[in-house]
Amino acid sequence: MSAGNLFVIAAPSGAGKTTLVGMLLGQDPLVRLSVSYTTRPPRPGEKEGVQYHFIDIQTFLSMRSRGEFVEWAEVHGNFYGTSRAWLAQHMAAGEDVLLEIDWQGAQQVREQFPGTIGIFILPPSIEELEHRLRGRGQDSDDVIQRRVAGALGEIRHVDEFDFVIINKDLQTALGDLLAAVRSTRLRLPRQRERHPDVFRFLESH
Ligand code: 5GP
Repeated sequence: MSAGNLFVIAAPSGAGKTTLVGMLLGQDPLVRLSVSYTTRPPRPGEKEGVQYHFIDIQTFLSMRSRGEFVEWAEVHGNFYGTSRAWLAQHMAAGEDVLLEIDWQGAQQVREQFPGTIGIFILPPSIEELEHRLRGRGQDSDDVIQRRVAGALGEIRHVDEFDFVIINKDLQTALGDLLAAVRSTRLRLPRQRERHPDVFRFLESH
């Protein structure tokens, strides 16, 4: 067994997941974030290999048929997938790996790796979520209602996760996320694997 932990983190859009994950990586250098493959076009400011590996549908489908994704899903009409090879390599190295994926992907990962730790980020209320999804007020009511419905669809899966972080105040939510990661590391089986020398006294007494 490897000494690393596998985390999946999911949230409805508007919960602040990407911001929180970015802050987590800044504060906890031991966490490795997987860069997913997607058929979604890059948004302004997004760079190949940083937020995503941007690929066309044909490439995605060939990779999928070769079994190169450990999980994949269609979200809002685009395909997303996690590299099986990348995950295997970093898990084998005993690293703590984080997958920022949706509930469908989280289910597939949990099935294959039963020790997966699920973290879900919630907005403080539906009203606040709707307010955040309205953004700068440039979108039609129709578009906003579709976003809210999509967010509710994700939230319905919250009880499949181990930790729930309510993002009302960003610094508090970051503290909670760091605590979830650190407390997972402190669980007995992991501590035994990481610090065999400390546990050796049990055998000699
Ligand atoms: P966005 O296009 O806004 O970056 O992401 C849309 C949704 O797709 C988010 O919920 C995000 O977590 C999810 N997502 C991103 N990468 C993956 C992936 O590799 N697999 C799955 N299943 N979902 C992903």
